[in-house]
Formats: sequence, structure tokens, C-alpha cells
Amino acid sequence: MRQRLLRVVDDRWHVRLIVATATALLNTVRRRLATSPVATASLGRAMVGSALLSAYLKPTAQQRVQIHIAGDGPLREVVAECNGIGHVRGYVRNPQVDLPPRDGKWDVARAVGRGYFTVLRDLGLGEPYASTVPLVSGEIAQDLAYYLLQSEQVHSAVLLGVLIRRERVIAAGGCLVERLPDADESAMDQLSERIRTLGGISHWLWRHPDPIQLVYQLLEGGRPRILEVRPLRFRCRCRRSRALEVLMAMDRQALIDDLRQEATVEVRCGFCNAAYGFSREELDFYLRPLGRVH
Ligand SMILES: [Zn+2]
Repeated sequence: MRQRLLRVVDDRWHVRLIVATATALLNTVRRRLATSPVATASLGRAMVGSALLSAYLKPTAQQRVQIHIAGDGPLREVVAECNGIGHVRGYVRNPQVDLPPRDGKWDVARAVGRGYFTVLRDLGLGEPYASTVPLVSGEIAQDLAYYLLQSEQVHSAVLLGVLIRRERVIAAGGCLVERLPDADESAMDQLSERIRTLGGISHWLWRHPDPIQLVYQLLEGGRPRILEVRPLRFRCRCRRSRALEVLMAMDRQALIDDLRQEATVEVRCGFCNAAYGFSREELDFYLRPLGRVH
């Protein structure tokens, strides 16, 4: 599978280009989280966006970037993250949201609604830092470009797309073109025109699944140098110990009540749907300092 993150610089046109493709990993997420098509499209765009933002992380799992979208639309919350070694995961609060397409496209803007777009960067140095902007469109690509301009003073064009046929993702990917200070105006106009004539990034990637083709399509006539190619894959970083921490942070009485009814308590990861079960005896051991549960 050609799921890759490409980091490219063009020495003639003075732009940086990042391209990501994520078709298979988004299908994995769709199956695990049982997302509806509009939820898959929204989550997929956010996941590709997080992969694009991860391009400048050091190649380590300790560095990661997260996009957090909180909106008043029916999805409520969309979270996507990617670390420095291309491990991507995502979460959506209401995966079953069903909205009709609008103008032949999944109505991501309506599913997301109005709200806030936050990017959290964890460079593995202690406190992660986060920056928030209001959602300007809810389509996610425009919101990411707006975020980059407002929070990081980066002039960019962002394309994110997910193409779904009969519930299955047949193309998912995107690109981020960053304008560098020496960029030539006529080259920028040419690039904008090429972006316009792609005919939608998801359809383009469906017909040309190798991300390198997008690089040459956009930067033809320039002098592109591919600086790095990183594989992308779905990988969740949940662990049993983290699930236990979630239980320990729960209201103690609610937990005791649960354990009166069931022999085990289960914590399910919202990112990968993995279930972690804890027996009454096990929890009794952990909770003992605060009183027995039965
Ligand atoms: Zn997980």
C-alpha cells in the first residue's frame, strides 16, 4: 500500500510541499470504529491533516501532533493524531452520524458545525503546547490553513480529501503547499491554477494512488527535491495501564455499583475500540487503600 508522507522543497518556486496518502489505514479505522460515511470523511480529513502537520517532527514516537475539533454539529468532537514515525489514529465522538450528501459531497461542514480547531504539539519535552482558532468553514482543510496562518504565520494551501464508494474508502489523502518568503508570484499563480485543475484531491489520488505523482503534477517545471519519505500506518498507543488509570479516575461509588452488577468492568479505547477488562479481584486490589468494593 502506498501510504506515505512525502516532504518536498522546490528550489525554483520556493515552496514546501507535503503530501500524505492514507487510504488503507482509514479503512482500518472505519471498520474498527464503525463510522458512517460522513464520519469517515470528517475523521479521514483530520487524520490526513495531522499526518501533514507531523512532517517536521523528529522521527520518534515521543513527538506527536494532534488536531482536536470541537463543534456544535452532530459529530461533536473529532480528534486525529500522528507521531514522528507515521503512526496515525483518530476518534470521533458520534461515529454513527448520518447526513445526506450535499452537491455530491459528504457534508463535513454540517457534521462538524461551528466551534474550535486546536492543534496540540507534543515534542516529548514535558508540557505539550496547544493553540486554538475558531472554525472558519468546518470543511477541515480551510480550517487547517487558517490555523497555520493565524497561529504559525504560515501562508499555505491545504487540500484534504476522502473518497468513499459503498461505505468503503477508495482514496484518502491530501497536501499542504507552504509558500516560502522568496516565492515567485507568477509561479504561485501557476500553482494555484494546477491545484484548481486537479478536480478534487480525492478523485485525483484515486486515479493516481502514488503520492509522488502529485508532487510532479503540482511542481512540474520547478526543481522539486524530495527530502523525506515516511510510511504511514494506523497504530494506537492505548495500553492496559492507561485504561486502569481511567478507571481509577472514575467516580468511586459508580465503579463500586458497576462491580456489584458485573464480574468485570470494561474500558474501551475510543481510538481503536480495544477493550480492556478488569476483574472484581483485580480492582479490589487497586482500590483496597480506599475501601473494599464488595
Ligand atoms: Zn486504542
